[in-house]
Amino acid sequence: MNEAFDVIMVGAGPAGSSCARRVADLGLSVTVLEKSTFPRSKPCGGGLTERALRLLNGEQTPVERQRFDTVEIAFDRHLSLLASGREVFIATTTRAEFDALLAREAEAAGARIEFGRAVTGLEHDGEGVRVRVGSESLTARHVVVADGARGAGRHMLGLTPLLMGGGIYVRAFPGSDGLPELLGGRVLFDLTAAKRGYGWVFPKGDHVNVGVFSQCELSARLRRDLDAFVALRGLGGWRREGPFAFPIPVGRPADALGTERVLFAGDAAGLVNPVTGEGISAAILSGRLAAEAVSESLDTGRAVSALYARRVKAEVIPMTDGSRTKGGRVYSLGPGFLKLVARTPVVKGMIAYAWRAATRGSEGLSLAVAGRPADGTTGTSVRTRSSTDST
Ligand SMILES: Cc1cc2nc3c(=O)[nH]c(=O)nc-3n(C[C@H](O)[C@H](O)[C@H](O)COP(=O)(O)OP(=O)(O)OC[C@H]3O[C@@H](n4cnc5c(N)ncnc54)[C@H](O)[C@@H]3O)c2cc1C
Repeated sequence: MNEAFDVIMVGAGPAGSSCARRVADLGLSVTVLEKSTFPRSKPCGGGLTERALRLLNGEQTPVERQRFDTVEIAFDRHLSLLASGREVFIATTTRAEFDALLAREAEAAGARIEFGRAVTGLEHDGEGVRVRVGSESLTARHVVVADGARGAGRHMLGLTPLLMGGGIYVRAFPGSDGLPELLGGRVLFDLTAAKRGYGWVFPKGDHVNVGVFSQCELSARLRRDLDAFVALRGLGGWRREGPFAFPIPVGRPADALGTERVLFAGDAAGLVNPVTGEGISAAILSGRLAAEAVSESLDTGRAVSALYARRVKAEVIPMTDGSRTKGGRVYSLGPGFLKLVARTPVVKGMIAYAWRAATRGSEGLSLAVAGRPADGTTGTSVRTRSSTDST
């Protein structure tokens, strides 16, 4: 063993960098081992939700691509619901730029990040944890594993694997005219695009990120759903990059948050909203809470895993699991049923309910049912409109 740290982080995604930054702010020594070299892309829609934006408090501004106060929720090609808020619902970014920004901020706070260093082993060792990087071995009093949905950290410690759904997307680039106005003006979620999931279109200035999420495991079927969704949305002729696919945790075992002196944060802990697949906000928050738990444990000698579990239960689980039952119910109704009720006023109540469940509150939400002419993706017409203060 050649070096000892207060904390070693595994992974420099949003969870790892947020944790490292908070650890450094708390005056502890921290090193982050990240297997990639940055900037690197992580398969993701790059949608920063209200929750993520609140946590970031403007830090993301330099890497924001677009902001949206209107979301379109589609039931089929010709029928949508438009949700508008007083504030921004979603901002889009690219993960290459966003993750590089968070990593730079962690370094500026005093964290050391070693890129191109893949952790290959983890084991408890007396009063600390031994971390292997190839033939090298480091020790830390605590380790926070934030190695994402494909990380091997859980396996290294013999912990239960997470239950996985998945997402797959392409980047689609318009011709020289730029993004059509409709695509550039709002984000779109299509509830009919995938089984137990949805499709999304996230505009990002020079391109759109278009993909499908499902609570079911990644499969050839999801790839077919993506192709169909791209064609349905009139993007088939655009130049495309991808597809890019990646698992998304949708279930958490009892040992998800860690063991003894090793904590898991972000996707590695299964802290993702299982209805929406949204995980950036939970990654940031769980990373910060892991840092605070470690600091308190070092100060008081209390068990770090219990301190962390208490914080996560109070602050993160409500935002990831809060929507599980209600959102699950919405999926189990099926797109056919949704299409039917979308034509009645009942839709407003249902969608407000599902939206609140998924986002846990959007200030001043207003909803409008929109019918689209049969000629494609332009020319949306609003048929009925009403405002509900449904926070
Ligand atoms: C297709 C898709 C679309 C999504 N869209 C959205 C969205 O729009 N909005 C949203 O909020 N969420 C979205 N998510 C979820 C979101 O991407 C994740 O929740 C988020 O990236 C989790 O962050 P993290 O830091 O926990 O893990 P990650 O971002 O996966 O970071 C893990 C890091 O650990 C590193 N690593 C892995 N193994 C090792 C090792 N052995 N040693 C060292 N380093 C290692 C990796 O290189 C990586 O940098 C999407 C997910 C997918 C798959």
